[in-house]
Amino acid sequence: MEQIITRFPPSPTGYLHVGGARTALFNWLYARHTKGKFVLRIEDTDVARSTQASTDAILEALEWLGIDWDEGPYFQSQRSAIYSEYIEKLLSSGQAYYCTCSRDALDAMRQKALEAGGKPKYDGICRNKGLSKSDDAVVRFKAPAAGSTIIKDVVKGNIVIPNAEMDDFIIQRSDGIPTYNLAVVVDDITMGINTVIRGDDHVNNTPKQILLYQALDAPLPTFGHVPMVLGKDRARLSKRHGAMSVTAYRDMGYLPDAFLNYLVRLGWSYGDQEFFTKDELIAKFTLENIGRSPGIFDTDKLLALNAEHIRKSPPAVIAHHLVPFLKQSGCDAGEDEFTQAVIQTLSVRSKTLVEMADGALFYYDGKITYDNKAAKKFLKPVIVEPLNLLIKALEASDSFDEPSLEDAFKTVMNTTGMKLGKIAQPVRVALTGKTVSPGIFEMLVVLGQAKVIARLKDAVKFIED
Ligand code: GLU
Repeated sequence: MEQIITRFPPSPTGYLHVGGARTALFNWLYARHTKGKFVLRIEDTDVARSTQASTDAILEALEWLGIDWDEGPYFQSQRSAIYSEYIEKLLSSGQAYYCTCSRDALDAMRQKALEAGGKPKYDGICRNKGLSKSDDAVVRFKAPAAGSTIIKDVVKGNIVIPNAEMDDFIIQRSDGIPTYNLAVVVDDITMGINTVIRGDDHVNNTPKQILLYQALDAPLPTFGHVPMVLGKDRARLSKRHGAMSVTAYRDMGYLPDAFLNYLVRLGWSYGDQEFFTKDELIAKFTLENIGRSPGIFDTDKLLALNAEHIRKSPPAVIAHHLVPFLKQSGCDAGEDEFTQAVIQTLSVRSKTLVEMADGALFYYDGKITYDNKAAKKFLKPVIVEPLNLLIKALEASDSFDEPSLEDAFKTVMNTTGMKLGKIAQPVRVALTGKTVSPGIFEMLVVLGQAKVIARLKDAVKFIED
């Protein structure tokens, strides 16, 4: 079979949003699943709205998601010579022509068509005038008036469009810039794209694009139009449904693989499986399982999936994504064994990396600041003696693993007659400043003997002062 070549062609007029990321993901997964190629193309022909900042933001988001490309990024703004060559081909084969109709003339023409009960179309008046290039001339494609065009859509099934519904659409504006449909088709042909998966907001463009492929005698790619992503109220996803930009989810503490897992489920399914690793997605992703109904963006589900990915991902992977959050909070943290051990104590209790970083700070702190209420309740004179006993027992111990820690606590319990809970809670406040933390013994092991003893001594001093 021919190698699958897919593409993602964002217009750099804003950040990468949820819907765009899903389109990129589907094309990327299909290319990876088939050991094909994934091409990145920046569609920046709309000079007024395209910005470098948007291009940078899109690339940054793709990199965060781990969506890598085999070719590109190509920039449409650098490809005008290729578009001109193809427009020239269509002109010289008589499949396109110059048109100099003024805006007023076009308006009148559309008005007339409407009044006659038809669609507001260009009437083809310049078709046979044999006009040549001039400053105010656009180039129009000579669309067939009869017959119909069929989109063989792998998602929606066959869509039939009567050619009479299409007019002689413009393929080059008077300023020489090609229109979207022309540029996309020329790019897809010259880049060897044979599979086009995109949002169904583009389905109206596809028949025009098919006509251009046919006029250029090029094989059609496989088309698949994916239903839009909606909010919980079933309106098209917008800012009021939550953050739209992909990198906002990174900043809120989502793991890229959790986000990918969520995105893919907004329009693709594999039985009733919800949790997928990235490798599993690559192994299982096929076009047949793209759904026909719109995905509903649900932030609660996304959060639950993130928590599951945090629980199931290797600590080294989490460390890579957690460290920036720790650094932001002023911690001198690295992606090392210590951080990985810290993560293991927190992964069952963190839904996001922001939450995890928050819960991890005490491990890195030099001095602990006690939460007022916690200190008042637990750091009281009665606990000085047990704390001192514990310090002694810990200082005397040669090892610092869970069994030896349990022994040290037992010694204190036996000498003072206090229950574990009564000792553990003040110890927790002494070590973390808070009343909630990971399990006491696992936390002590990760903190290590020196830090634990120093913090217990600080707490004793705090109480005595
Ligand atoms: N540049 C278009 C967009 O961002 C995509 C065009 C296409 O997929 O053909 O919507």
